[in-house]
Amino acid sequence: MGHVKAIPVQDKGDVLKETKSFSWNTSKECDRIMSRLSGAMEECGPLEKKYQEIIADLRTYLEYLKEMGIEALPLPVETRESPRSSSPRPSNPLTLEVIRNELGDCRRCKLHRTRKTIVFGEGDTKATLMFVGEGPGFDEDVQGRPFVGRAGQLLTKIIQSIGLQRSQVYIANIVKCRPPQNRNPEPDEIDACHPFLLRQIEALQPQIICALGTFAAQTLLKTSAKITALRGQVFELDGIKVIPTYHPAFLLRNPEKKKDVWQDMKKILELLRQTEEPDHPAGDDKR
Ligand code: URA
Repeated sequence: MGHVKAIPVQDKGDVLKETKSFSWNTSKECDRIMSRLSGAMEECGPLEKKYQEIIADLRTYLEYLKEMGIEALPLPVETRESPRSSSPRPSNPLTLEVIRNELGDCRRCKLHRTRKTIVFGEGDTKATLMFVGEGPGFDEDVQGRPFVGRAGQLLTKIIQSIGLQRSQVYIANIVKCRPPQNRNPEPDEIDACHPFLLRQIEALQPQIICALGTFAAQTLLKTSAKITALRGQVFELDGIKVIPTYHPAFLLRNPEKKKDVWQDMKKILELLRQTEEPDHPAGDDKR
């Protein structure tokens, strides 16, 4: 991703014009745009199916933003590349592949007895932004991928709300194996897994880690403080900014808290803007 700029939804109706103004009425403007989209779909007649699908997707997205209480719509000006740091990263011989091999068919804690799959993590191996959740649930255990269930779908939307795709960030968990019946991970399980997460962070060298929920925030920040006290703040861990926010599964149960997460996402967006470089020749820091 190149530069990320915020555009208010009111201008989006007129073919995504850029502006930096934030003063507009979210709800009214979303309604206006959605009714224009509906009108467009009816009027267009033989509009190609793919365009109709795009309009329908856009409509769903705007409805979601409205539900989140979002005030402005951030869009990347250039979406082909992932966010990159302005300071070139030193070449790092530690790769995620090496760490995955070291993990092997892990039996370092009792979770291995009940898991189906190790959920190592996935995403852009050069990502500036990393999300860390708690641990795999049922769907993740079956598919071997993080955040693919209902909470995962919400996380995908949260990522998209700051103008990024899932493939442009890296997603991992505090524990890599599903705790039975989705119980909380226990201290010995977290301890067994943590060195691997730390090495993943070392290999990735993200600029920002968004810690999703209590376990991610408390483990990464080595604190027992509550997530309600931690969220909304920016911490630093070995030069990496750590921003705790609510876990998407918590948001599914408490949708009124989505507004707080949006505030945290705006903070992340601002930090991403600060770390972006204006120009980045392709291939300069590829690992
Ligand atoms: N919840 C998590 O914390 N992680 C996942 O991968 C899925 C759900």
